[in-house]
Amino acid sequence: MDPESILKTVIEKDSKYVMPTYGRKPLVFKGGKNSTLIDIFGKEYIDCLSGIAVNATGYSNQKLIRAIQEQAEQLIHISNYYYNIPQVNAAEKLAQITGLSKIFFCNSGAEANDGAMKLAKLHTKKNSFISTNNAFHGRTIGSLGATANIKYRDPFVPLVKPATFVEYGNAQAIEKALDSDTAGVILEPIQGEGGVRISNKEYLKEVREICDQNDLILIFDEVQTGFGRTGKWFCKDHYAVQPDILTMAKAIGGGLPMGAIAARDGLSFEKGEHGTTFGGSPLVCAASLAVMETIEEDKLIENAAAMGQYFLEKLNRMKRDDIVSIRGMGLMIGIELDHECGYFMDAAIEKGVLLNVTAGNVIRLLPPLVIQKEEADRVVEVIESIRKS
Ligand SMILES: *Cc1c(COP(=O)(O)O)cnc(C)c1O
Repeated sequence: MDPESILKTVIEKDSKYVMPTYGRKPLVFKGGKNSTLIDIFGKEYIDCLSGIAVNATGYSNQKLIRAIQEQAEQLIHISNYYYNIPQVNAAEKLAQITGLSKIFFCNSGAEANDGAMKLAKLHTKKNSFISTNNAFHGRTIGSLGATANIKYRDPFVPLVKPATFVEYGNAQAIEKALDSDTAGVILEPIQGEGGVRISNKEYLKEVREICDQNDLILIFDEVQTGFGRTGKWFCKDHYAVQPDILTMAKAIGGGLPMGAIAARDGLSFEKGEHGTTFGGSPLVCAASLAVMETIEEDKLIENAAAMGQYFLEKLNRMKRDDIVSIRGMGLMIGIELDHECGYFMDAAIEKGVLLNVTAGNVIRLLPPLVIQKEEADRVVEVIESIRKS
């Protein structure tokens, strides 16, 4: 079939059989290499979305592919009633890079946050959480309770028990909001879906102190900011603040569905208190180990830090008069414009760049951590050139 017909058939089948939750772009990809995706027409795109911060090691990464192939031939899934070699190795590595003690494996970011809140409830015997305005923690009934955007939350109320939402970046607001039933605080060290909002230097430290003083469990949701994205293994490392629980997903499994919870010493689920059929399968853990090894061996954290800097310098020299602010840490970058800019996504596709607009007026860049200068140059050129038509 010619690409034109394939595209038409895929769109028809999708609209007939798939629930229309996503508002898809009329693009079908056949593959990619490093930071470049190729569609079925053979057109190339510089990918500044990475499957939403998932494809950190880039497309067609040979080490990742081999790890998945080799593990698939050995053993794909085994019940968690038995020991599993890739799982213990991935847990050891995750404990090492997070600086936390124990790991629970699950299958997505929302699930990791659900589990983190269950763990905080178990440990404190309390029920409510404090979250922040514009926070995004996922779409399950539990994680929605900590997600601020009423567009996601309102159709499903009553939820188990929605969090109390306070201003992001204001630690005192947490102190004011807590009560005798508060189990913990959940926040993203950089808000992703909320518009790439970076917390100020003191915020996380102050939140840590408030949690210590009031025996609250501090949960950092690093689902988007983890695995080198911000130029450190985890965003918290920029601030030298350790949470009680860290949640991870997105890049952790190299594109296989995977999430994880890491918790400090003395904070753990015990036998029967939590579980999931697929969590920590040999296949996803083998992929995760390959991702973590690649990040180290190919110095992708260093590249994320350097390329993030490079992007920011170039973006700041752009000639546009509609910019409110340009902010970023490593390869998590937001360009806030003074107007709704959803049209940027289609205009950029025309010019061979994939990017995302979040919070209505923030262009968000989340390229693979392997991106190079020439690609960044082209991305900035494209962003500079797009005007509201
Ligand atoms: C994407 C995301 C989630 C949800 O992860 P899913 O795997 O889609 O459930 C949670 N928190 C943050 C910060 C995210 O970016």
